[in-house]
Amino acid sequence: MQIRNFYAFLLDFPVSHYISGWRNISRTHHLLVFIATDEGIIGLGEGTPYATSHLSDYIYALRLLGKLKGCNIEDALSTLRMTENKLFEKRSTVNFGAFLAIESALLDALAKARKSPVAEVLGGAYRTTLPVAGTVFLGHPLRMVKRIRWWLERGVKHVKLKIPCNINKLELYLDTVMRITRLRNEGVTLRVDANECFKELDKAYKALQIMSRYGVDIVEQPMPRDRLREIARLRKAFSPTIKIMLDESLMRPQDLETFATMEAADIVNFHPSKLGCPSITREAILKAKKLGFEVNIGSSLMTEVGLAHYLNLAASLPELDYPLEEVGIKEFYPSYSVLKPQKSVLLTITNGNMKLPSDLGTDINFEDLRLDTLKAFFERVEPSYILRDKVKMLLSNIIRNL
Ligand SMILES: [Mg+2]
Repeated sequence: MQIRNFYAFLLDFPVSHYISGWRNISRTHHLLVFIATDEGIIGLGEGTPYATSHLSDYIYALRLLGKLKGCNIEDALSTLRMTENKLFEKRSTVNFGAFLAIESALLDALAKARKSPVAEVLGGAYRTTLPVAGTVFLGHPLRMVKRIRWWLERGVKHVKLKIPCNINKLELYLDTVMRITRLRNEGVTLRVDANECFKELDKAYKALQIMSRYGVDIVEQPMPRDRLREIARLRKAFSPTIKIMLDESLMRPQDLETFATMEAADIVNFHPSKLGCPSITREAILKAKKLGFEVNIGSSLMTEVGLAHYLNLAASLPELDYPLEEVGIKEFYPSYSVLKPQKSVLLTITNGNMKLPSDLGTDINFEDLRLDTLKAFFERVEPSYILRDKVKMLLSNIIRNL
């Protein structure tokens, strides 16, 4: 089966929510890739930008797809993996979103041809029901309480909170949330994602002391990504009451060995777009397990196309330590569902679980997309934007290397 043609476009959704430290997220970008084969099958994939810009991902994806056109699918998959692994070895900037979108589309086409779920192509479908976790963005504590209740009503047993970085505010927020929701009595795992916000060790230490008083089970990325030595000290001080999860610190599969040597983590978070190709992500997850880490599959608010792929990735793991965090942007912004209503019922949460779509790839086909409505969110990629973006990337690279 050969790649006959491809198509890629960017979706740009205006959103408004806050992550830890009151950092506002005002847009989400989604690179959607379609790969058509000579057998008439169309594979769908999605990537979101991480550490690069979405425009840079888009341009890079077009370049890669141009090289892969005419190849058979298996060869395209191995070329893609090799290309990404070479970039990891050279420690170059990796356009994770491009690799994720393209490999996902290839895997979907292959799975559709074999009439199997994508999980099977990735290495095995170990489960068809997948527990999911609920994320609560930072807002007024009472709004956060409302959102937590909303998740609990849907049967979710793992809640992740974004937090303020001011120590007094942190205490106030946790106090309000824990007093009203009684999460501790509900058997819910409580995770707090600091998004690197405690810059000093003593501040991080105080924050974890407060968290342990309120029954926080896991803290995600308490300090900046490169401060592994200090994170290891925190881990030692609060083990086994609070587990440390690393997220932003992971940029290459090779980082896992460093985490292990430094004993800096209990859990590693692999979120969409993080390591690009799903097959490379899966391999890194298996490696993390061998090194003794627990593993979490995180979220970056994808459309249902990416969500279906992440359900398949989670289904392909022999052991799933934590519920899948990716539940799709449509859970937070329902009008951004990319599927026609009759299809969107497939990816809903029942009793804290989602179902693996079916045995035909991701079970999402080109005809299932609401392309007419989505057109309003297509991002126009004009040469001037590309130039502006290239200059911005170049400058930020120079500044990073100073
Ligand atoms: Mg995180």
